[in-house]
Amino acid sequence: MKIHEYQAKEVLARYGVTVPRGRVASTPQEARAIAQELGGRVVVKAQVHAGGRGKAGGIRLAETPEQAEQHARDLIGSRLVTPQAPQGVPVHKVLVEEAISIAQEYYLGITLDRARQRDVVMVSAMGGMDIEQVAEEHPEAIVKVWVEPWQGLHPYQARQALYEAGIAREAVPTATKFLLALYKAYMASDASLAEINPFVLTQEGQCLAADAKMNIDDNALFRHPEFSDYKEESEEDPIEAEAHRRGIQYVRLGGDIGIIGNGAGLVMSTLDEVTRAGGKPANFLDIGGGAKADLVRNALEIVLMDPHVKGVLFNVFGGITRGDEVAKGIIEGIQSLHVKVPIVIRLAGTRAEEGLALLRGTDLIPAVTMQEAARKIVEVTR
Ligand code: GDP
Ligand code: MN
Repeated sequence: MKIHEYQAKEVLARYGVTVPRGRVASTPQEARAIAQELGGRVVVKAQVHAGGRGKAGGIRLAETPEQAEQHARDLIGSRLVTPQAPQGVPVHKVLVEEAISIAQEYYLGITLDRARQRDVVMVSAMGGMDIEQVAEEHPEAIVKVWVEPWQGLHPYQARQALYEAGIAREAVPTATKFLLALYKAYMASDASLAEINPFVLTQEGQCLAADAKMNIDDNALFRHPEFSDYKEESEEDPIEAEAHRRGIQYVRLGGDIGIIGNGAGLVMSTLDEVTRAGGKPANFLDIGGGAKADLVRNALEIVLMDPHVKGVLFNVFGGITRGDEVAKGIIEGIQSLHVKVPIVIRLAGTRAEEGLALLRGTDLIPAVTMQEAARKIVEVTR
């Protein structure tokens, strides 16, 4: 799970990572009040899950609270267009922070190096810019140290990496404390990434996280109730968010043929077959094993929330999932949801016959194989 800059800074501050003073705002008025409170110049920063906000105009300097309010008005409700997100990412909130006097911009990052089965700490004096570009053009400018999991990051390792990377000598003691705190936050949060770019040395000699990016391991979220509010906000796609609230595995894919199946493997094969038949899947949706009628109706409702969906393909291979339960769910769903789009269904395995018997007399289009089902749904939605 990606979390926003302001959230990452909240988390990091708890572990002693120094961050600029500031708060998040959802309205221009709030932004103005925060700027007033902070006094002096502030930066107004769009909170989106996308890098390169600076270049995209998402980071703005304000001399007065009025200006902060104006920047917030321009940003909130707009879409930020970045090289990675050419379609634009909607901005709902801005972070209002005291502007800092930057003497040097560095880079700090911690992530999991899967090949080495260890966390890797990265330090570079070439901060502030795109780190992928630095890695490409000046790989020698990024110093890496790998952390033995049972030992943790030793202070001497942090110090050595900072010296080697060419961080100003007088800043190394404070930067070491900063890096150790960052590592502590990374470990305690079950993060898969903690990145500070730029890591700033101010003219007053202070070390500050001007920017912060953190990803949390989804599989560890159950032991972090403190991140439950972040989860809501991390889900930018409203249909995906609703599906997850209902406990349904759904991923939006952008096409126009809704897909529902049982088992991730079967659903992925279905996506392939639909694509091969010339169609474009609208989503991935796995109802899992042993799905009951209620879940099937729910799944159909989720898929139809996407206005682009022109037809739905059910591909169910019954093992513990019963064909008659699925058929009941589809019939209930079609009736209660007033479904108008065509539905193709391939039902096989446990109680498939009973299921197909229930579907007789309805408008559902049956298919015997997955390939036939894919061809049929592409045909009827063309
Ligand atoms: P990103 O473009 O999404 O990575 O956003 P950043 O938070 O890294 O901001 C981009 C750039 O804006 C940084 O590299 C800084 O040079 C500049 N910047 C960010 N915050 C401040 C600030 O408080 N004061 C000043 N002067 N510049 C800032
Ligand atoms: Mn940045």
